[in-house]
Amino acid sequence: MFLNRLLLCPEPYLDESFGGYILRLTSLNFYDKPSWIYKLGNESTQRLEFNPYSLDLNKTSLEILSGYLHTNKEKLYAMLLPFKGFSKYSVDLMFKYMTNSRSPYFSSRNRICVECIKEYGFIKKYWDIKFVSVCVEHSCFLMEKCPFCKKYLDYSRKSISICNCGFDLTKYKGKRNISNLDFEITKLIIHSCGFKAYENKGNPLYNTNLDEIVDSLIIVSRIFFTNKFSFSIKTNLTELHELLKDPLHFFQNWPINCNYYFNDKYQNKMSINNKNQRDDVLEDYNYYFKGLNKIRYQHVQILRERYLDYLKCLM
Ligand SMILES: [Zn+2]
Ligand SMILES: [Zn+2]
Repeated sequence: MFLNRLLLCPEPYLDESFGGYILRLTSLNFYDKPSWIYKLGNESTQRLEFNPYSLDLNKTSLEILSGYLHTNKEKLYAMLLPFKGFSKYSVDLMFKYMTNSRSPYFSSRNRICVECIKEYGFIKKYWDIKFVSVCVEHSCFLMEKCPFCKKYLDYSRKSISICNCGFDLTKYKGKRNISNLDFEITKLIIHSCGFKAYENKGNPLYNTNLDEIVDSLIIVSRIFFTNKFSFSIKTNLTELHELLKDPLHFFQNWPINCNYYFNDKYQNKMSINNKNQRDDVLEDYNYYFKGLNKIRYQHVQILRERYLDYLKCLM
């Protein structure tokens, strides 16, 4: 008999990861790899079993897959947005946070908290958001490499809790203690995506959207901090975590820290090459907020306004 839906197909949880959901269905239905499920939906050409967030919605509507999963495609689309729940789905948001193989919003690798997996049995969506590095419930860094074979965990495995080498990830006892500072970036991200509310009156990024947060941190990192790591898709979670600490500090204690970095960068430079201080500030402002980049960074308002205020002070 030909079945047009999976035999066992529970609903996704409100805060469940898309790739994690397919992986959960994989083991529930006794498949050995999630690629079997993606094949049902004719999505095999996109190799989503390795990185579900590389999904190109121009090539598929997820119509067939949603039929097999006995759900509607809008629900699956909502799972591909970096927000909690399914109600946030809209065409505008899908366009803004469109998944692709170089998405700045999602990690291309699977990261997990083994304690949560033991407790809840599913992969949480907020772990998939690129700048998230800790589990706020268990105060630990997320795991992205198998402690036994040392390979990155990938979504293409048999079950949520078993690595492809056969190691049962839930047996792992090691837990790195983390400081309050380590939580900051994750708190900011999951607050802005509606997973959990936090308050931080001293950081203006708490009042804006994920796209502005991500690009503000990247721009500040490029302008004000020289780093040995970069925001490439190859950057591992520990490197990314370190990379984000300084740019986050820039926005904390607003605007005191930010003023310090502005003065440090632009005032010192003047004494070195005698160039007009205002020219230096304008050069960076124009690069990121005018010309072609103006379109790319038009949502980055807090930083742009800070630049304009600083320029006014130099008049
Ligand atoms: Zn956890
Ligand atoms: Zn392994």
